[in-house]
Amino acid sequence: MPAHYDLLIRNGTCVLPWGSEDTGVGVREGRIAALGVTADATADTVVDATGLHVLPGLIDPHVHLRDPGNKAVESIPSGTRGAVLGGLTAVFDMPNTSPPIIDAESLAWKQSYIDDVAWCDMGIYFGATKTNIPSLAAMELGRGVCAIKVFAGSSTGNLMVEDDEHIEMVMRSGRRRIAYHSEDEYRLQERKPMFKPGDPYRSHMVWRDEECAFLGTRRLMALARKTGRQAHILHVSTWQELEFLKDFRDISTCEVLLNHLTQVAPDCYDRLEGFGVMNPPIRGEEHRALAWKAINDGTVDTVGSDHAPHPREKKLLPWPQCPSGLTGVQTLVPIMLDHVNAGRLSLGRMVDLMSAGPARVYGIAGKGRLAAGYDADFTLVDMKHQRRIEESWLATPCGWSPFTGMDVTGWPIATIIRGNVVMREDEVLGEPAGKLVNFVG
Ligand SMILES: [Zn+2]
Repeated sequence: MPAHYDLLIRNGTCVLPWGSEDTGVGVREGRIAALGVTADATADTVVDATGLHVLPGLIDPHVHLRDPGNKAVESIPSGTRGAVLGGLTAVFDMPNTSPPIIDAESLAWKQSYIDDVAWCDMGIYFGATKTNIPSLAAMELGRGVCAIKVFAGSSTGNLMVEDDEHIEMVMRSGRRRIAYHSEDEYRLQERKPMFKPGDPYRSHMVWRDEECAFLGTRRLMALARKTGRQAHILHVSTWQELEFLKDFRDISTCEVLLNHLTQVAPDCYDRLEGFGVMNPPIRGEEHRALAWKAINDGTVDTVGSDHAPHPREKKLLPWPQCPSGLTGVQTLVPIMLDHVNAGRLSLGRMVDLMSAGPARVYGIAGKGRLAAGYDADFTLVDMKHQRRIEESWLATPCGWSPFTGMDVTGWPIATIIRGNVVMREDEVLGEPAGKLVNFVG
C-alpha cells in the first residue's frame, strides 16, 4: 500500500546534512517521517517545490523583539510575523526588554505569552545581573530558555555584568553554554569623554574601537578557561577576535552578524547616518573581509540579524543620542541568499550557519537538520527570484530597514513549521502557533 502523509513536499532540491538531493519529504504529526518518498505516496497537503530548494528551518538566534516594551516599535506578534515572512522558523529573543527577563516571574510571563501569540518557534535568553546569579543554574533549565545572556559591555537597557569577579560567579553558576555581549565596559567609559554631542556618526566606531571588543573577548576567554564553562561570543566584529578565537574552539563558539558581513564603514555612516549605528559598531573593510574568511574556514558557528528596532525619530537624532540597533529579522534570509548567489558562501554553508549551527551551539532538541524524526521545519527558497527590499513589505511597526532599496537574488517562498505552512509567497497563513523550542538541558 502506498504511504500516506499529512504533508508531502515534492520535486524540490533538499539540502541534507550530507549534501543536496532531489527527493520528496513526507511529514506526519509535525515531524519528518521519510526522505526519498516514492512517487505513489499520497498526502493531505502536497507542496510542489519545483524549482525550489528545501532547507531545514532557518533560525535567527539573535533578535530583540522589545516585548514587553513599546509595541509601536516591535512586539513578539509583529516580530515573529516578520520572521516567518522572511523565511525563519524560529528566533531566539534577548532579555533586555522593559521590564527585562531576569527573574522567575518575568520568565513565566514570557513563556505563556509566547504560547499564545508567536508566529514562529522561539527560544528565550535569560538575562544575568549582579544580583540574580544564585538563580541562574535553575533559570537556564527553564522551558524554552536557549541560554543565559551576559551583557559584559553596555548596550540598550541596563543589564550589565562588567567586572571579572561577577562574570566568574556567573560562569560558576550553572553548566550550559553562556552567550556574551563582549565589549570592555571600562574602556568604553574611559573613551567617552574624547567625543562630544553632534560628532559625526562614524565616531561610534572610533569610540567603541576594535580594542574594546578584543579586550572584552580576551577577558572572557581567560575566565572561560579558568572555570571550564562553555561560551558563545555574540556578534564578533573584529578580525582580531576571529583570529584569537581559533585557539579557543574547545571552550567557545561564536556568531557573526549579517550587518557586519554586508555593511562597511565609513560608507554605512555616510549613507545611513543614525540608521547605521549599532553595537558593536560596523567597522572597516579589513574586518568585513576577514569575517567572510572566517565564515568559509569554519571559525564562525552561527549568523544572526541582531534585529533591534528603535523608533525612526530616535534614529534621526544626532550622535550619540541616536540609540544603537538595526532592524533585520525579515531581511536576514533574503540577504544571505544574495550572498550565496554572489559566491561569498555556499548554500550548504548557509544552512550549516543558520540551522545546524544554532542547534549545535544552543543544544536544540529535534531541529537543525532534514532527517527522519526531526521537527518538520522547512524554509523553501527560490535561488533565482530577484527582488528589491522595500519598507512596505516589513512587518515591524518601526517601519525602517538599513537595507531598503537593496536588490537581492534569492528569496524565501514558503515557511513551514512542524508541518504547518505558515507563510506562502508573502502571505502569512493560519493562526499564531509558535512554540517554545526544546533544548537539551
Ligand atoms: Zn543584540
